[in-house]
Amino acid sequence: MNQFVLADCTTESGALSQLGQNAGKGAVVKAGGVDLLDLMKNGVATPTRLVNIRNISGMRGIHETPQGLNIGALTTLTEISEHPAIRAHYTILSDACGSAATPHIRNVATVGGNLLQQNRCWYFRSDDFACLKKGKDVCFAFDGLNQYHAIFDNGTCPSVAPSSAAVALLGLNASVELTSAKKGKRVVAIKDFYVQPDVNPMMRTVIAPDELLTAVIVPKPAAGMRSAYQKYGEKRSYDWAIADAGVVLEMDGNICKRATIVMGAASPVVRSSPKAEALLTGKPITEETARAAGKAAMEGAQPLSMNGYKVQLFPVAIYRTVLLAAGQMDRDPSAVG
Ligand SMILES: Cc1cc2nc3c(=O)[nH]c(=O)nc-3n(C[C@H](O)[C@H](O)[C@H](O)COP(=O)(O)OP(=O)(O)OC[C@H]3O[C@@H](n4cnc5c(N)ncnc54)[C@H](O)[C@@H]3O)c2cc1C
Repeated sequence: MNQFVLADCTTESGALSQLGQNAGKGAVVKAGGVDLLDLMKNGVATPTRLVNIRNISGMRGIHETPQGLNIGALTTLTEISEHPAIRAHYTILSDACGSAATPHIRNVATVGGNLLQQNRCWYFRSDDFACLKKGKDVCFAFDGLNQYHAIFDNGTCPSVAPSSAAVALLGLNASVELTSAKKGKRVVAIKDFYVQPDVNPMMRTVIAPDELLTAVIVPKPAAGMRSAYQKYGEKRSYDWAIADAGVVLEMDGNICKRATIVMGAASPVVRSSPKAEALLTGKPITEETARAAGKAAMEGAQPLSMNGYKVQLFPVAIYRTVLLAAGQMDRDPSAVG
């Protein structure tokens, strides 16, 4: 690991001023440190200054507002998954945060860091491989081991979106609040937050080097909203998803007025499926419509040499999660997390 200066901050303004003065000079934010320290230990991230925000109490906590929820960026995944109002009204979010990683990691990992963690690709995460995401011009996954990689939008860099929280927050049409010392606050919808690799493989999100992600804003649940999240993986715990599905339904009786279907670990940027959503809209939720939605979500998939199984796994994940959201099926015992 390289040498660095540790700037321990206890206020948001202190951290913003550290970032304002040192942005572009190797300063990097550290929240829980779960992802960042992994990248540093592997020699993939080499910051010269760590701006430690973990002890800024003002950036932590879940506030219920007339508009919905305002969640401080330093709120942990455990705090979100166990919050009574989130469990009652935003099941997709409590289940996504409660399915990530392990209980120990969830006690440390923050929602801001979870949304900003780097994509999963073992070539990118090893300093033995100089790839597109490190500013070079080769992707080793295309001709290499690509069983965990993307099946959509994978023409440039097939690394996958890893954040379970992002699946839920895209489903809930949430936004992030970004703050800088110079420009103040701006709010960006999760759907506009991530950058596709064909735009710039090195730029994962639109956050600027002098900005902090200060809060997550979740709108009030619509009338009749029901939601669910399920994660599928190789291990029951201590691992990322190989496929995860988030579903939000706005129901009027048994008729679905509006559906949002989101997939994680399918593409470099967390992805919803308008085709699958359209198939459910205006219809009752049944095994048949849920199955059709799962199938439709795979339209346009382009699996790589070793990840064709995902084209079979996602429709099952979506089918089961739609029925779970509608209250027609119990949690899938083969889901993990
Ligand atoms: C074994 C294992 C299994 C895992 N499984 C899952 C899983 O199933 N689902 C899942 O979603 N995740 C999973 N994770 C990832 C883990 O949840 C994330 O690494 C963690 O949430 C990151 O949060 P953090 O607070 O530690 O972020 P950090 O590591 O501190 O930061 C991550 C990145 O975000 C930036 N950053 C952090 N906070 C801010 C902020 N407020 N403003 C600006 N920049 C910021 C940092 O500079 C860094 O680039 C797993 C991790 C491990 C080790």
